[in-house]
Amino acid sequence: MNSSFQDFDDFSLDDDTLHEECGVFGILGHPDAAALTALGLHALQHRGQEAAGIVSYDGQQFRSERHMGLVGDHFTDPAMLEALSGQMAMGHVRYSTTGGTVLRNVQPLFAELAVGGIAIAHNGNFTNGLSMRRKLISDGAICQSTSDTEVVLHLIARSRAKTSSDRFIDAISQMEGGYSMIAMTRTKLIAARDPTGIRPLVMGELDGKPIFCSETCALDIIGAKFVRDVENGEVIICEVQPDGSISIDSRKPALQQKERLCLFEYVYFARPDSIVGGRNVYQTRKNMGFNLAKEAPVEADVVVPVPDGGTPAAIGFAQESGIPFELGIIRNHYVGRTFIEPTQQIRAFGVKLKHSANRAVISGKRVVLIDDSIVRGTTSVKIVQMLRDAGAKEVHIRVASPMIFYSDYYGIDTPDRDKLFANNHETLEDMCKFIGADSLQFLSIDGLYEAVGGEKRNNALPQFTDHQFTGDYPTRLLDKEHEDEFSKIELLAGNG
Ligand code: AMP
Repeated sequence: MNSSFQDFDDFSLDDDTLHEECGVFGILGHPDAAALTALGLHALQHRGQEAAGIVSYDGQQFRSERHMGLVGDHFTDPAMLEALSGQMAMGHVRYSTTGGTVLRNVQPLFAELAVGGIAIAHNGNFTNGLSMRRKLISDGAICQSTSDTEVVLHLIARSRAKTSSDRFIDAISQMEGGYSMIAMTRTKLIAARDPTGIRPLVMGELDGKPIFCSETCALDIIGAKFVRDVENGEVIICEVQPDGSISIDSRKPALQQKERLCLFEYVYFARPDSIVGGRNVYQTRKNMGFNLAKEAPVEADVVVPVPDGGTPAAIGFAQESGIPFELGIIRNHYVGRTFIEPTQQIRAFGVKLKHSANRAVISGKRVVLIDDSIVRGTTSVKIVQMLRDAGAKEVHIRVASPMIFYSDYYGIDTPDRDKLFANNHETLEDMCKFIGADSLQFLSIDGLYEAVGGEKRNNALPQFTDHQFTGDYPTRLLDKEHEDEFSKIELLAGNG
């Protein structure tokens, strides 16, 4: 295993607790397993740009490469891919804030256990990860990373179950929160989704060999077929049999619950060409724009998206309103996402690096500016100023999701509640004034539900999880409830 260990000094204790969004990919039984994993991770790069890792197994040894940076920075080296030999491989792309940016937290995590080697990769966050970790450490466990994913390795190690897959099930059954996970042993590739199915995970197939990945765009890049979504609460175990065939076993170890996929996958995270929960993400975003134009019409000359997130909704808004769509803001693609920058100061600077106004279509115009979401408000403030500087006569902001009042605890990077834009202003007018726009409107929660699922929110039994907007969390938040009891070092334990 190649990993480097750094001191606790690497962590900034002033940072918010860690929040990450990640992508996972795994394939079993293919001669090009590592190269296909690298391509799959490349397609999932939007889910995490800070680090990437691949583990393979060649029948004798597990091989691992984990690196800070983009997939393309490391996993295009033919010698490296060749060294990741074997017919099974899995990988992870990771996105984190300061505290988690160390190589030892980069996944897949690996351990040699009594049942043999096992690698795991996780997208999501365990809402009882800190509590479990504390218990394990007080029982004598030595944690190598600050990632909550490592807790699962410890629980697998301690399980009394006979097989590695039963041990895995035993371990995840003790975890709460949002998780889409992939695990790999010497003969098995295992995929699991939490009981409410908060984060996405799909099953595909290439040349008859099973694949699991976060989104269908990772199947498309390698010409693999989409088979189906991994269901909420489902564990799928693919195992190489002595005759070389692969068996596929689906289990539902948890109590059956209603699926509640996270609406933010549709609002912001998933790639527009992915099919998430059976829906084309681009179309759902366009629908958000249609509904926004119906709910909050405005007289204007041009509809301009904040690229890339706001683009599909802006197309929908333009089509519904009849106002021409223009690329009034040009995005520089050679910088990462705004949130990657760890401090507010650098983040604000990052917005300028990322966007510039296309004066020719802005000057003298009444602009409807469409963004997918407002989180801290950083982007909106900068962009409105940019449009005014470029000569916009009026700037009307239309946001293709509701106001965000609540933090996420399932693996999405949102700041603490007190840093959320919607919580820092009393009224819509105050928000609008702060941003410097002529008007500001957000899509309603029902408008969002209709855009994604075709019907209004079922308040008794919501079809999705929408906790960022409503505070209706689909699981208990054990660590959050006991937040005061954890030390700062413990709180830095990150997620997958
Ligand atoms: P903010 O500037 O803090 O209001 O963030 C809103 C902008 O960041 C929007 O343009 C979104 O496209 C994007 N965004 C929303 N949520 C996230 C997230 N969790 N991570 C990174 N970017 C995000």
